[in-house]
Amino acid sequence: MSFTTKDGKKLITVIPGDGIGPEVVNSAKQIIEAAGVKIEWEEREAGASVFKKGLQSGVPQETIDSISKTRVVLKGPLETPVGFGEKSANVTLRKLFETYGNIRPVRELPGVITPYSGRGIDLVVVRENVEDLYAGIEHMQTPGVAQCLKIISKKGCEKIVRLAFEFALSEGRKKVHCATKSNIMKFTEGYLKKTFEEVAKEYPDIEANHIIIDNCAHQLVKKPEQFDVIVTTNMNGDIISDLTSALIGGLGFAPSANLGTDVAIFEAVHGSAPKYAGLNVINPTALISSAVLMLRHFQEIEAAQMIEHALLVTLEEGKVKTGDVVGYDKGTPTTKYTEEIIKNLGRKSSKWQVRDYKPLIMPKVSEDIALVKPTSRRTVGADIFIESSLSPLELGKSLESIAEGTALKLKMISNRGTKVYPPTGAITDCIDHYRCRFILLNGGNDLTDAQILELLNKVLQKYKWMHIEKLQEFDGQLGYTKAQGED
Ligand code: NAP
Repeated sequence: MSFTTKDGKKLITVIPGDGIGPEVVNSAKQIIEAAGVKIEWEEREAGASVFKKGLQSGVPQETIDSISKTRVVLKGPLETPVGFGEKSANVTLRKLFETYGNIRPVRELPGVITPYSGRGIDLVVVRENVEDLYAGIEHMQTPGVAQCLKIISKKGCEKIVRLAFEFALSEGRKKVHCATKSNIMKFTEGYLKKTFEEVAKEYPDIEANHIIIDNCAHQLVKKPEQFDVIVTTNMNGDIISDLTSALIGGLGFAPSANLGTDVAIFEAVHGSAPKYAGLNVINPTALISSAVLMLRHFQEIEAAQMIEHALLVTLEEGKVKTGDVVGYDKGTPTTKYTEEIIKNLGRKSSKWQVRDYKPLIMPKVSEDIALVKPTSRRTVGADIFIESSLSPLELGKSLESIAEGTALKLKMISNRGTKVYPPTGAITDCIDHYRCRFILLNGGNDLTDAQILELLNKVLQKYKWMHIEKLQEFDGQLGYTKAQGED
């Protein structure tokens, strides 16, 4: 989707960004214009300059309005305040416009010598972009215990898995790996694996494999050429896509596209590299290649391929080399590197090819808010999270007597996921954050909210609690995992 002006130009929101952002964005804009693409840029702000004005989100309304209209953004990196306080403006932008798929391609490039040169690395990481730990739902549970919620939905998994297969088709790729930590996080990471295995059946011409994310990292370093497309959850994708960019020469060469049903945001994988800001020394290739992805997005395939060829010729001839490749004391200035690519527009390398791209068909997934509708469900218990400095034994005995006379009984207590009551003999260095699992007494069928509240009311007479989770079953399947050591 994009917006065309009355005089036939594509209207694009451009965010120069922070640090080296304005330099790389300028380079990409000049090359696009030299390639003859008719674009009108609507420049908008986000990031550090906006935080400094006191806007907590880092994304002003004018920027949101512009993107809502143009639907396409070329964006420089935005600085993120570290630690407590403001959220990342990058993540805010991705979430505001539901750009759920982050496409991060890397390929071996001529003249960029790495330990992997000659092995033909050419792969794409498809990272889920809005869910997972990046939902940013964090709470201090006790004065000394922090928690971050990992939210993974069936809808989110459907969208990203389908996008990965569709992206593979659009580039004529043959293999998709799904990389998860489903062996440990069976419900969250496991949801992606399960969905992948279901959806893969609809793409019989594409080889589909699951791989555990840690082995994926290991295999990426050992034999990266075995991969074609890797689909993964947000955090895993963030990490392995920085790894994959290092395989082909570093962050200076790694582009990305944030794709949603309505809006697409194109940006380099790298950040604002503040130490190089304004020095005219950085490598603009990542943002130029992101701009190529943008041109493909609105079907300017010829211009996209022309820029890609010019980039390959420039790198192959090696007349200009950026500081990240040859050292910043010897590197070509960003502006001169840009001029050289512009000079090479129209030329093609005889050795280095550009893919034939087909239009990417964005997946259609139901917009129903409740995508999964079980035919039966019941509540069988509750986990009450309690702040206490008692020992597990003291707390366990006390909670057992508190639960007497209610519809529930204490089944076990865990500390950071390990069962500590009834005692198992294990050595656990406990913290003041206990998960106390209460289940329905024998014969109970469906626990009511009133019964849970009755128990909670009794617990809170004696203990501080910080949250409560219902233990549910959907279509007869447990909707919760057991603690380490729980039977
Ligand atoms: P960074 O800005 O990506 O820089 C890390 C290192 O990568 C640089 O010191 C440099 O390595 C190399 N590098 C990055 N871009 C390069 C380029 N175009 N050309 C050559 N080398 C390049 O990561 P950071 O220092 O962790 O983050 C800085 C800020 O950017 C933070 O505020 C962070 O939150 C933000 N950030 C924003 C985005 C985004 O907007 N999407 C993404 C990541 C980080 P050498 O020093 O080894 O040369």
